[in-house]
Amino acid sequence: MGGVSDREPKARRRPALAEAIAILRGLYGKPEPPAVTDPFQQILWENVAYLTSDAKRAEAFAMLEQNVGLEPKRILAAPLSTLQQIGRKAILPSGTAAKLYQIAEIALEEFGGTLRPILKLPLKNAKNALRKFPSIGEPAAEKILLFARAHPVLGLDSNGLRPLLRLGFGREERNYAASYHSAQEAVAPELPRDFDSLIEAAQLLRRHGQELCKRSHPRCEACPLRGRCAYAQAAGTEPTRSRPTGSRRRREIVRSRRPAPHPK
Ligand code: SF4
Repeated sequence: MGGVSDREPKARRRPALAEAIAILRGLYGKPEPPAVTDPFQQILWENVAYLTSDAKRAEAFAMLEQNVGLEPKRILAAPLSTLQQIGRKAILPSGTAAKLYQIAEIALEEFGGTLRPILKLPLKNAKNALRKFPSIGEPAAEKILLFARAHPVLGLDSNGLRPLLRLGFGREERNYAASYHSAQEAVAPELPRDFDSLIEAAQLLRRHGQELCKRSHPRCEACPLRGRCAYAQAAGTEPTRSRPTGSRRRREIVRSRRPAPHPK
């Protein structure tokens, strides 16, 4: 995630969360409601095609639904070759089948085949229960609880977290979990309480992280949040070293071609 910790906002304050979301809604339109909301199915969605595009993930999920089914017992009974075939949609397909079996096993052995009761648990317990499944950390657990409309939290993946940090909500820390908590703490006083608004905010932030606020090369020049963004303001004020020309450039070329001094 591009560094922002050393790039503090200069003159203008960050936008309010509601203002930023309204600007993103104007840019991308109102998102469709999430396609998958059941907690067990969301866990399958996260794992069925790890590290791939949304389109490929949707294809893999549809294959699983059509060829196997989305119930734990059906997945456990599915031939390995069928799950391996589905896993080929992922960039890292090798572990997909094993993870799908593992998810089905945990759901059956620890939760009696249904995860719906988890939704009624207090937030901390619900997150801990969901984190028993592969690839589900705290952010994914919060997203599952949000999309299932169980707890009003702003569950964000890395694409959604990045714009929030760059806008100035929290700061990037040494590890992902600390950055996530920093952003969540900063945004908490401004969070809407209703599920529709929270889900929309999570979806728009994620889309912004995928389309303009990319990890390596954010396209700030095309972003309507630029004038209120800490990262863009800091980037715009960074001194850029001018490319040397003429005799200075020739001196640098000569210096670069000299053999390095022999080590002592
Ligand atoms: S201005 Fe740049 S860094 Fe800021 S939110 Fe937009 S794309 Fe991201």
